[in-house]
Amino acid sequence: MEETAKAAKQQFNVRPNAQAISAAERATLLEDPGFGRVFTDHMVVIKYSDDRGWYDAEVTARAPLSIDPACSVLHYAQEIFEGMKAYRTQDGGAVLFRPDANARRFRQSAERLAMPLIPEELFLEAVRQIVSIDRDWVPSGEGALYLRPFMFGSEVMLGVRPSSEYLFLVIASPAGNYFKGGKDAVTIWVSNDYTRAAPGGTGAAKCGGNYAAGLLPQAQAVANGCDQVVFLDAVERRWVDELGGMNLFFVFDDGSINTPPLGTILPGITRDSLLTIARDRGIKVSESPYAIDQWRADAESGRLRETFACGTAAVITPVGEVRSVDGNFKIGDGGAGPVAKELRKTLTDIQRGNAPDPHGWVQKAY
Ligand SMILES: *Cc1c(COP(=O)(O)O)cnc(C)c1O
Repeated sequence: MEETAKAAKQQFNVRPNAQAISAAERATLLEDPGFGRVFTDHMVVIKYSDDRGWYDAEVTARAPLSIDPACSVLHYAQEIFEGMKAYRTQDGGAVLFRPDANARRFRQSAERLAMPLIPEELFLEAVRQIVSIDRDWVPSGEGALYLRPFMFGSEVMLGVRPSSEYLFLVIASPAGNYFKGGKDAVTIWVSNDYTRAAPGGTGAAKCGGNYAAGLLPQAQAVANGCDQVVFLDAVERRWVDELGGMNLFFVFDDGSINTPPLGTILPGITRDSLLTIARDRGIKVSESPYAIDQWRADAESGRLRETFACGTAAVITPVGEVRSVDGNFKIGDGGAGPVAKELRKTLTDIQRGNAPDPHGWVQKAY
């Protein structure tokens, strides 16, 4: 492993940005970065072709790409991405949370989209390179440096087949609170018209196309006064899948928690971490299908105490109310519940190196 890590590192040609943003301007930008609006000075670019494999890895000034109008991704959407964060630690360093899980999932997404599999160690080194060169962009306090590795088909051709050339990039964006105003709980809209993922489809892959298909239902959610859309399964339109970009958890009055099983949903690393943390604490956890009607009935009877969404960007977001064409229902008292708060604290403490890390999830970023 040591040897592969070294080999991956040596591949990078590092060319620092001569026009990097000044320290003063950076400090202003870091005061309230929001989510995905502010970007760092650099990016990682690695090329791939069927003939040469992975080549020309570089760390360079963040700049627009020049793309041919027939670039295959623009037509057939061969694109995948990851979302992960670098956290500032007490000693002034930075750490990554389970980056190996992101590397593995990226390869799984690539496989589903008929794209080349980037070696795990090359993916990880690309991430470490950008955090290292842009280390001054890692916010302290509540925020984190959001990292966005992504890859797309870059061959110039209109044939319907996998691209023979790809670009892999990593960009970085300091992030504050994902939801504007950092509110306590969100209201979500049940989409009856649209689904996110069918069995055999791309629901478990982190690909841009899934998000494109989710934008209209998300707009309907907003039009109905909600923050987010929740999707039901594509076959029976009955089982709760997930939100457009976050997994869901349900907390019951007997202290147990449940989350929908893997299959068509995105296998969230936050989801997996919360399942592990909950099991460690002796909480009874299950991964089983949960019907929309049951959700409503349990919320109304009080058997359901909490519902929360989870993902890297927002960590844990309590769901206060569910709305749909069949009527609305409230969850608990409509605010953040104790289990959501407790799990959120435990997870963020581990992520920031403020709590023991029994599973070895946290790694130095550089
Ligand atoms: C990324 C993503 C999640 C959350 O995954 P994490 O690894 O926890 O960040 C959930 N659902 C969808 C659709 C996603 O794209």
